[in-house]
Amino acid sequence: MDQSIGSASGHFKRSSHTVVSFTSDEGEVRYPANLTWTCIGCANSCRDLPGRKRNILLVPSDTKRISSATKLTAQEFSLSSPGTVPYDRKMKKHKGKCIFLQGSRCSIYRARPLICRFYPFSLRSLSDGTLEVGFDPSCSGIGKGPSRGEKLFHDLVTLARKELGS
Ligand code: SF4
Repeated sequence: MDQSIGSASGHFKRSSHTVVSFTSDEGEVRYPANLTWTCIGCANSCRDLPGRKRNILLVPSDTKRISSATKLTAQEFSLSSPGTVPYDRKMKKHKGKCIFLQGSRCSIYRARPLICRFYPFSLRSLSDGTLEVGFDPSCSGIGKGPSRGEKLFHDLVTLARKELGS
């Protein structure tokens, strides 16, 4: 895994929290300590917000999974996205919202893209091979809910590895 994963806004936010780490099959993973978060179902990551445009990027395995679940062709729900490796496509939007957003619910939840499964977290490789977890501080669920630690970030690293085939 040698690219950044996550962050639907296209910007990786470094954590200002104290950083702790664990060792996975991928090597050392650094993550913010004492971070509390829960999804409050606002769906803000599924639509453009004032001053911030969402780019819902897709890796090839996302496109295949969504096509299989919806019986739509890739061209029907996504556009090509050159220069955004490992993502090669991006979700179509309608009036600034992901075309699969219905009210505040994802209509393809079980088949949703990697970037949606990651949100509000992101992952990037540092030059020494360490993986660093970041998060979007504008997510309304940050600071709420239970403390998130090694298990969540271990699961995210495993998911990214599986989806990227790395
Ligand atoms: S695929 Fe689902 S979770 Fe992802 S942006 Fe669209 S509606 Fe939201």
